Amino acid sequence: MNLDFDVIIIGAGMSGITAGIRSAMSGKRVLLLEQQQEVGGLNTYYKRAERIIDVGLHAFTNYLPPHKGKGALNKILRQLRIRFEDLKLGEHPSSLISFAEGGMVFGNGPDVQTFCESVRKLFPEDEQRFLSLVRTIENYNVNFIDAKQTQNEKSARQELQKILEGANPLLLEMLLFPCLVYGSSWENDLEFSQFAIMFRALFLEGFARPEGGVKRLIDLLKARFLEEGGNLKLKCKVLSLTEGKAGEWRVFSTLGVFSAKQVISCAGSLESYKLIEERALPLAQERGKLTFTEAIFVLPRSALVLQNKGLPKHSVVFYNERPGHYRYAAPLECTAIDTSSALICFPDNYLDAQKQTIPSEELVIRVSLLANFDYWEKLRKVRADYLRAKEYVLEESIKLVLRYLKREGVELSYLEIKDKIIFHDVFTPWTIRRYGGREGAAVYGHERKSRDGKTPYSQLYLCGSDQGFVGVVGAMLSGIAIANQYVIKDHQSETSI
Ligand SMILES: Cc1cc2nc3c(=O)[nH]c(=O)nc-3n(C[C@H](O)[C@H](O)[C@H](O)COP(=O)(O)OP(=O)(O)OC[C@H]3O[C@@H](n4cnc5c(N)ncnc54)[C@H](O)[C@@H]3O)c2cc1C
Repeated sequence: MNLDFDVIIIGAGMSGITAGIRSAMSGKRVLLLEQQQEVGGLNTYYKRAERIIDVGLHAFTNYLPPHKGKGALNKILRQLRIRFEDLKLGEHPSSLISFAEGGMVFGNGPDVQTFCESVRKLFPEDEQRFLSLVRTIENYNVNFIDAKQTQNEKSARQELQKILEGANPLLLEMLLFPCLVYGSSWENDLEFSQFAIMFRALFLEGFARPEGGVKRLIDLLKARFLEEGGNLKLKCKVLSLTEGKAGEWRVFSTLGVFSAKQVISCAGSLESYKLIEERALPLAQERGKLTFTEAIFVLPRSALVLQNKGLPKHSVVFYNERPGHYRYAAPLECTAIDTSSALICFPDNYLDAQKQTIPSEELVIRVSLLANFDYWEKLRKVRADYLRAKEYVLEESIKLVLRYLKREGVELSYLEIKDKIIFHDVFTPWTIRRYGGREGAAVYGHERKSRDGKTPYSQLYLCGSDQGFVGVVGAMLSGIAIANQYVIKDHQSETSI
C-alpha cells in the first residue's frame, strides 16, 4: 500500500466519514483512521443477544417528510449520493417539553400548528410573540463555514429576550431547553446562530429514526466511502502529527506512519493540537463541561400498558422538575448526576419503522442525565464504587421516568418496573471519554468553535463538533462543508441552510 495520500482524516465520527466520502468522490486519495472497531464515533451501536443497542441515537434531527419539502437531511444525502428511501426513516408522532408548570407538544415541521396550539394553551398572551420568533428563524441564513459568526457570538438568551419581549419568561426557558440539551457546549446558554440551527433542526424540520437504528446509516456511509475508493483503517489510533520538510503532514499511528498534504480531524480541537504539541494549554481552560450519563432499559411492553391509557405516546420528552427555570450546567463537584431534569426517549415510538432493533414484545427507554466528569473520573479508579454509581444512575433514571409518568396520570411503583427489566446498560462520562477520546467527555466539544474549520496549523482542518455543528445530522453537514471548502474547493456547494 502506498502510504502517501492527498487527505488523511482522523476519526470516523459522522463528520469524519462524510468528509471522507466527499473527498473521495472528488478523486482524491483518502485515508480514514479510526481508533475504534466501528465507524460512527459517539453514535455507534453494539449487539447483545438478539438486540442491537444504539450507543447514542435518540433521533435524527432535520427530517422533513418528502411531501412537505426538503430538509437539511435531504440535502446531505444528495451530496453523499445516498438515496433518502434507503434510510427507511420513521418520523416521530410527537415529542414533549414537560415542565412542572405544564407541557408543550410539538410534531414535525414545516408548519408549527401542534406546537402553536400548545403555546396558546400554556401562554395565551404569547402566541404572536412565538410566531414572530418562528418567522425570524425561518429567515435566518446560517452559513456552515463562517468565521465571522464565531467572532460575533451573541447570547441566544439575550436575543430571545428581545424577540419575545414582554413574554412570560417561562416560555423562553421552555424553548431554550431542547436546543441546549441537543446541542450546546456552553452552560445555560448557546450562541444565537447555534440556537437558530437547533430551533430549525428540532421544530421546523423534525425528528425521525432509521429502521434498525443507527446501524443502517453507518452501513450506508461505510459502503459509500469504500465504493468511492476510500481507504479505511479501524482500530488505528493516531498518536502524533508532525510537519515534514516538504510541508506535508506525517501521521504516526498504531498501524504505521502515513503522510498527506491535508489532514482533517473530527477528534476535537484540543485533542488534535495535543497530537502536535503535548502542551495545548490555553485551549484546555475552555474545555467543554457538558456531559451525560445514559441509562438504557428494556421492558416487556405489557409492563407499561398504562392503566387504560396505552403505552407512552411521545418519542422524546424534555423533562424538567425545577419550577421556573431549567439548569443546563455540570452538576456540582461532589454530585455524580443531576436528577432534576432529563432527556427521556422512547425509541420505539416512531411511525413506519417496520423492523425494530429488539423483539416486538419489548420496549426500550433511554434516559440522559447531566453529569459531572471530574466526579466520574475519580470514581472509576475504584471499580466497586464505579459499579455502584452505575447502579445508582439506573435507579435514579427509572425513578425519574416514573415521576414523568405520574405527570401523565399513571402511577407505577419502582419495584414493579425494576423487577421486569429484561436488559439494561449504563454509559457514564467515563465511557464517553474512553470511546470518543474527548477531553472531559464533552459531548458537544470545546466551548470555542472554529466556524471556518481552520486551525493555527497550515492544511490541518477541524470538522464536527469543534467546527460548530453537533448531532448526527449537524456532524454530517460539517464533514461535507469542510471537504467542499478545502479539499474540493467547491465553495458554492451546500454551505448554507
Ligand atoms: C449518549 C449520547 C446520545 C446522543 N444522542 C444523539 C441523538 O439522538 N441525535 C443526534 O443527532 N445526536 C446525538 N448525540 C450527539 C452526536 O452523537 C454527536 O454530536 C456527533 O456524533 C458528533 O460527531 P463528530 O463527528 O463531531 O465526532 P465524534 O462522534 O466524537 O467522533 C470522533 C471520532 O474520532 C475518533 N478519534 C478520536 N481520537 C482519535 C485518534 N487519536 N485516533 C483515531 N481516532 C480518533 C473517535 O474514536 C471517534 O470515532 C448523542 C451523543 C451522546 C454521547
